[in-house]
Amino acid sequence: MSSRVHKPGEPQQWADLIRDCVLCPRACHVDRMAGQLGACRCGARAVVASAGPHFGEERCLVGTGGSGTIFLAGCNLDCVFCQNCDISHPPSVRAAGREIEPEQIAALALGLKARGCENINFVSPTHVAHAVAEAVAIARQEGLRVPIVYNCGGYDSVETLHRLEGLIEVYMPDFKWADADAGRRYSGVSDYPAVAAAALREMYRQVGPLITDARGVVVRGVLVRHLVMPGDLARSREVIDLVAAAAPACAINVMAQYRPCHRAAEYPELLAPVARRTVAALRQYAVDRGLVRADH
Ligand code: SF4
Ligand code: SF4
Repeated sequence: MSSRVHKPGEPQQWADLIRDCVLCPRACHVDRMAGQLGACRCGARAVVASAGPHFGEERCLVGTGGSGTIFLAGCNLDCVFCQNCDISHPPSVRAAGREIEPEQIAALALGLKARGCENINFVSPTHVAHAVAEAVAIARQEGLRVPIVYNCGGYDSVETLHRLEGLIEVYMPDFKWADADAGRRYSGVSDYPAVAAAALREMYRQVGPLITDARGVVVRGVLVRHLVMPGDLARSREVIDLVAAAAPACAINVMAQYRPCHRAAEYPELLAPVARRTVAALRQYAVDRGLVRADH
């Protein structure tokens, strides 16, 4: 047995997790190194759907140079209303972009920094955390100094997050459901609230509350996103309670932009609108629970 201690981001640290894949809490136990596919339908290599400066994120991420987003194809969740389904649930993940090595992802990140981006924002990284970790380690060695944002669905494994410690400055998880039955029905996993709360606790342990620089641009910390669903299907107040318990005083964006996409038409309850006053009341509730608003 080797006595060498592996540093975060080294491939050896991760190969065991994807050979019998438990990279995320789905725990599919498929050998992705041998080409087997699990629930995320992604092989061993990450597929990048697009990369570029993005100005539509929260103001604290965008700053003046934009957030340097790298969209990763595939997803470990299966949200029936997904607004991103062309990238997260294409007929073939491989065909949804460019299947690339961590060195090439690192080069993309360095290129975005050179274009003035304020941070590197990995969108849907959970099912390719191994490749993201390796890419970040390489980019750091090559001089990347901007914050790395881990922009995920919240259904993340604490073990994988442990291995990411030291590589990620900003965790930006969704917290979708307080109701496990809703998580099962609409996102395809049976234990969303408990898993997301444990993951959020670990993220918060690593990076703490959101810290911004003198320009108001994020440097480090946790920013949770919660999409308010029609008919309070997510049980949003309970979501806010769970977030406040797991990550006290973290930032939260209680989002109003739900619209029925993907397979939402199969669920009549997902076709109702969300009232603006409902969202406003939830934003106030989050403040009352000690959280910091980040919905602008
Ligand atoms: S990363 Fe993909 S294959 Fe691995 S456990 Fe999660 S869903 Fe399954
Ligand atoms: S977590 Fe986000 S990207 Fe993934 S399926 Fe759900 S809504 Fe789509």
